[in-house]
Amino acid sequence: MSSSSSSALEMEIFQYIDAHQSDFIKDLKEWVAVESDSVQPHLREEVMQMMTLAADRLATLGATVNLVNLGSHELPDGQVLPLPPVILGELGKDPQKPTVCFYGHVDVQPAKKEDGWDTDPYTLTEINGNLYGRGATDNKGPVLAWINAVEAFRALKLAMPVNFKFVIEGMEEAGSLGLEKLLEEENQRFFSDVDYIVISDNLWLSNKKPALTYGSRGNACFCVEVKDTGSLQLSLRQTGMMQLYLHLHAERD
Ligand SMILES: [Zn+2]
Repeated sequence: MSSSSSSALEMEIFQYIDAHQSDFIKDLKEWVAVESDSVQPHLREEVMQMMTLAADRLATLGATVNLVNLGSHELPDGQVLPLPPVILGELGKDPQKPTVCFYGHVDVQPAKKEDGWDTDPYTLTEINGNLYGRGATDNKGPVLAWINAVEAFRALKLAMPVNFKFVIEGMEEAGSLGLEKLLEEENQRFFSDVDYIVISDNLWLSNKKPALTYGSRGNACFCVEVKDTGSLQLSLRQTGMMQLYLHLHAERD
């Protein structure tokens, strides 16, 4: 492709993006409004709803969508909760093109106005050109950005340069329960023809400087049960165990 036709193509894509900016924001607002907090058990239904929304959005794009059931998990208090399904999506199967697999998650960490938010965390709010809302950047926004990019190509009837695969989960903020087993099971099937993986769940160093993450620290999760019997709590504080508990929570937040 010559540089002039390439810049004409870019112009066409950017015009499409500008013309549809309010649609993109409307979609993000709808996604942010779902309290898909995977940490608090009473919000699990919201995570399930979020997975359905994301799956429907991919299907509208023309992707083949498979919601893989991961079963359930047991909480420390004995409560059994269903795990949200993982979305495996596919779009394009041209053997001449490379296959890019995109990973993202649509669950969030707990958020309350009292935690120090200036705005309601589940109401996407624009302030000075910035959009604020739980999950707007981590990670609902990036998931939608990929979907919107593919949609722009399709709407403009442009040939897609690659085949796409999507892996979207709903338990990332709670340790990605069940995902590893699924990845192993699908290694020789869904992932067998994947050439590149894009993990779009990272940081930008500034508004203009994206970061290419090539490694990450390990994650350690602990469950410490503290029974409130007054004197025990006091002794825990004295032994420093309470400090450990608070520290672990601070680390996870
Ligand atoms: Zn994330």
